[in-house]
Amino acid sequence: MVERSACIGIQRRLPCADLFSCLTRYVFFITFRLKEPYIITTIPLLISKLYIDRQVAQLPQVASIRSRIDAPVVVVQNVQEVYDSLALSDDPIQKGKTVLFLTRNKGAFIKKCPGTRAYRCCNYQILHIGTFCTMDCSYCILQTYFHPPVLQYFVNHDDLFSELDNLFLKKNITRIGTGEFTDSMIWEMWTDLSNQLVSKFSEQFHTVLELKTKTTAIDGLKRLGHNRKTIVAWSLNTDRVIRNEEFHTASLSERLRAAAKCESWGYPLGFHFDPMFIYDGCEKEYREVVERLFSHVSSKNIVWISIGTFRFMPSLKSIIQKRFPESKIIYGEFIPGLDGKMRYFKPLRIELYRKMISWIRKYDPEIVIYFCMEDDEVWQKSMGFIPQDRGGLPKMLDTSAVSVCGLDVG
Ligand code: SF4
Repeated sequence: MVERSACIGIQRRLPCADLFSCLTRYVFFITFRLKEPYIITTIPLLISKLYIDRQVAQLPQVASIRSRIDAPVVVVQNVQEVYDSLALSDDPIQKGKTVLFLTRNKGAFIKKCPGTRAYRCCNYQILHIGTFCTMDCSYCILQTYFHPPVLQYFVNHDDLFSELDNLFLKKNITRIGTGEFTDSMIWEMWTDLSNQLVSKFSEQFHTVLELKTKTTAIDGLKRLGHNRKTIVAWSLNTDRVIRNEEFHTASLSERLRAAAKCESWGYPLGFHFDPMFIYDGCEKEYREVVERLFSHVSSKNIVWISIGTFRFMPSLKSIIQKRFPESKIIYGEFIPGLDGKMRYFKPLRIELYRKMISWIRKYDPEIVIYFCMEDDEVWQKSMGFIPQDRGGLPKMLDTSAVSVCGLDVG
C-alpha cells in the first residue's frame, strides 16, 4: 500500500494524470537510475497553451518559438486575457507554469537588483528576459511576485541588444544575470537567446553574464565562443531538499555533471547555496554537497559561491501551505528581519554559515564566498571580516570576475 503523501510527492515530481501512470513512470525512472534510487530526473512541465500579444505577433522571434511549441495558439490584445484564463484554475500558480505568453518588455531590460539597505548588497544587475519558471520549488518567491504569476517571455530583442550595447560602451566592470525573475536556462527549449547572449558578451571585456539554473539544459553552450565572459551557475542543495522541495528540477548529481561539462568547455562557474535549510542532519548533508562539488569541478574556475539561509515574506507562507502541504520548511524557528522577511534565528544562521565556509575553504582558502542579504554582524562572525574591510562586496565580486573571467580594468 502506497502512502497518499508519498503519491502526492511522486506526482509532484512526475505530474501524471492518475496514480497508475504516476507509479508506472516512477518505476520506469527508478529502473533507469539505480545508482541514485531516490533521485528522479527532471521532467519539465509542458506548455498547454501559447498566448501571443497582438503587438508582437509579427516579430521573427515569435515565429521561431511557435515552430518549437506544439500547443494551441491564442493571440490576445493584452495580458488581462491571459490572467483571466488562469483565474479559473484550482491552482493558478501551477497553471501559470504551463501557459506561455510572448510579449514586449515595456520597461527596461537592464535593472538594478532590488537589494535592501539593512543588508549588504552586491550591486548586481538583472537582465530581464522573462518571468516565472517551468520548475516548481516550494519556496520560490516568484509565486508571490506577479499577479498571478505567468510564464512570460519578452521578444523585443532589438531593444534588449541595444541596451546591452549602451552598457558595454560605458566600460564599467559589471555583473549581470538573467536568473532573478526566472531560471536562465528553461528558455533553451524554445529560443536561441543564450546562444546570442553568450556571443554578444564574448565580444567585450568589462561585463560578465551569469546564467543561473537548476536545469541541465547546457548543450547549446557547447560550441559557443564565450571568451570566458559568461559564468554558468547552479543553485545547489542537499538531495533531501531537492527531492522534497524542488520539483521538476535536475538532481544534484545531474547539476554537478553539467557544471563539470561546462568547465571542460572553458566556462567559468558560479554556485549558490541559497536557500539553505536548517533541519536534523542538515550539517552532514550540506558537507557532503560541498565534497561532491569539489570532486566535480576545480576551485580555480569558480568565480563565486553565495550562501544564504531560507527567508520568506509572510505572504509566501499560505501559498506553501496550500500548494505544498507536505512541506515542513515554514515551521522552523523564524523571526522577522529588517526587510520584513522571516529568517532563522541569527545564531542558528551563523552556526551553519561558519561550518559551510570552513568546509569550502578546506578546498580553497582563497575562493570568494559571499552572503546575499546578511548584515555586518553575520559577516564578521561567520567570515571573520566585513565587506568594507575588502573594499565592499561589489569590489570583492568584481575583483574575482576580473581575475577568473579576464575582464579589463583599464
Ligand atoms: S528554479 Fe528558481 S525560479 Fe524556478 S521555481 Fe525554483 S526557485 Fe523558482
